[in-house]
Amino acid sequence: MLAPNALTVDVEDYFHVAALAPSIHRDSWGSRESRVVDNTRKLMDIFGRFDARATFFVLGWVAERHPRLIRDIAASGHEIACHGYSHSLVYEQTPEVFREETLRSKNLLEDITGSAVIGYRAASYSIVRETLWALDILADLGFTYDSSIFPVRHDRYGIPDAARIPHRLLTPNKKDLVEWPLSTANVFGYRLPVAGGGYFRLLPYWLTRWGLASINRKEQRPFIFYLHPWEIDPGQPRVPAGWLSRFRHYTNLEKCEGRLQRLLGEFRFGTVKDSLVQLGLLS
Ligand SMILES: [Zn+2]
Repeated sequence: MLAPNALTVDVEDYFHVAALAPSIHRDSWGSRESRVVDNTRKLMDIFGRFDARATFFVLGWVAERHPRLIRDIAASGHEIACHGYSHSLVYEQTPEVFREETLRSKNLLEDITGSAVIGYRAASYSIVRETLWALDILADLGFTYDSSIFPVRHDRYGIPDAARIPHRLLTPNKKDLVEWPLSTANVFGYRLPVAGGGYFRLLPYWLTRWGLASINRKEQRPFIFYLHPWEIDPGQPRVPAGWLSRFRHYTNLEKCEGRLQRLLGEFRFGTVKDSLVQLGLLS
């Protein structure tokens, strides 16, 4: 049987999002209305109804303030993985700062859950060609898999010709790491991003469903899907931002929860770790 598709959540608040960063100063995070706990619990309820396990890539900043949420996610049988500490883009950090903040977040999550954290995802998929050094640091810190590379062209992220499928790679300093790039469907050689997030809200549902089904059926491979807790929250406070960022962040928020339920009914999901073990990429 095909390994389960990986269901993933990047646990952060609406004010952490890279697209809105120019309008939201970091110093204001602590004083903004936080909605991440309620939205994440809502996602857990929905997943529970479909008996789906997921991997939650948790931002250290959130874990520090809401340790009970993280403990409850883990206690519900989901996997806890690391989304860095501050949501800074990797290509805006030095290797020293990246190492320090990634370790801080990993330690925090391991202290809260009492289990090893082996998976990592960068803020806004910011492991790009110029920041492949980050993979060395992840291997050094004890991560065994990464899911930060988006094999498409985009203004903020992407390695357009990177491998599309989960695979073992050698980091620049020849260390082992497993990479699960965000899923794209192969449409006559064009890579259509169908992995979730803004694409899931902006593309018609039938197209997402067709693309994901083609990965399962034609390629005989599982896909990896991602969502943010704020994407099922049409009531979140609106933040002034440029038109493109507003379009990406706010379009179809009210449709997302219904679509997610359809998706969970139509595909089989599990954690990244379980799927990679079944694929023989992790032991
Ligand atoms: Zn994020």
